[in-house]
Amino acid sequence: MSKPLHSAPHRLPPRYQVSIRRLEWLTPRVANLVLHGPELSGYEPADAGSHIKLILPPPGVADTPQPLRREGRRPVFAEGVTPPFLRTYTPLRYNPETLELEVEMLLHGDSPASNWLRSARPGHRITVAGPRGGWDPPQDGDWYIVIADDTGIPAAVQVLQTLPDRQITALFEVSDEQERRPLPGIPDLLPEWLFREPEGLTAGAPLEQAVRQARIPASRGYVWMALEAGAMRRIRRHLIEDRGLHSEQMVTRGYWKLGTPDHPDGDYGYGIGMGENRPR
Ligand SMILES: Cc1cc2nc3c(=O)[nH]c(=O)nc-3n(C[C@H](O)[C@H](O)[C@H](O)COP(=O)(O)OP(=O)(O)OC[C@H]3O[C@@H](n4cnc5c(N)ncnc54)[C@H](O)[C@@H]3O)c2cc1C
Repeated sequence: MSKPLHSAPHRLPPRYQVSIRRLEWLTPRVANLVLHGPELSGYEPADAGSHIKLILPPPGVADTPQPLRREGRRPVFAEGVTPPFLRTYTPLRYNPETLELEVEMLLHGDSPASNWLRSARPGHRITVAGPRGGWDPPQDGDWYIVIADDTGIPAAVQVLQTLPDRQITALFEVSDEQERRPLPGIPDLLPEWLFREPEGLTAGAPLEQAVRQARIPASRGYVWMALEAGAMRRIRRHLIEDRGLHSEQMVTRGYWKLGTPDHPDGDYGYGIGMGENRPR
């Protein structure tokens, strides 16, 4: 049986208490958070496109509350303490010398994580758990297509850095021109930037259109994508049913879902297309 394209360990991930060392706005909607803490000396980076949980304080609280104890996996907090909430992010860069972990976070509206980001300041303390998952791309492709919306770009940059020197297409969708930015570690000219505005297109629509128009060689190749879950499913179905790609040539990830808070981090869109093998 061929190797699954991703790994999904089940043990409880390690946790690290960190503080925000720097917070810099890269675009009007994307902030680079530099997290720091001595506990990060134990952090072990995973494959490209792995994820961490940011355990964030409730509104109006600066630092993530710590549990008094655990009952099994369930944290128990002191009476009157509002528990923190968790969201999933990409550990973009880890520096073991400076014990810094960088995360790029999108501000997208009135949501728990966006509201936390608006109030986040250097010195605030949060908890990081992970990393988990990630992709070690097969190196035998003649071509690779990497597809990401605003939330998938940090992971896509990591994936692009691990690919062999072959025919590589990178399609990145953001809201508008102001969100286009240099991406350290990959050539400026590599990504094709697609915009939802000014047309007011639905999340994922520009990517879907670009994939439908893309030339996909008949030779062996691989697709990695991370974007809104509905758009991911439409693109996945198109690639399998109209272009004849096999699910084993693809990693397809729904990073968030329109209208759904806290979409699960393990949405791989399985069950779409004929004759698929679900990884065990
Ligand atoms: C493996 C993985 C890695 C991820 N890496 C990153 C990353 O590095 N950077 C990053 O910014 N995000 C990343 N995300 C996406 C992020 O976890 C989600 O956007 C998450 O929903 C944010 O939480 P929230 O509290 O803002 O919104 P939620 O409480 O989850 O949702 C509230 C509302 O906001 C909507 N919403 C959520 N995300 C968006 C969005 N992007 N645009 C428009 N509406 C949205 C939901 O549909 C819902 O209606 C990643 C997700 C996964 C699964």
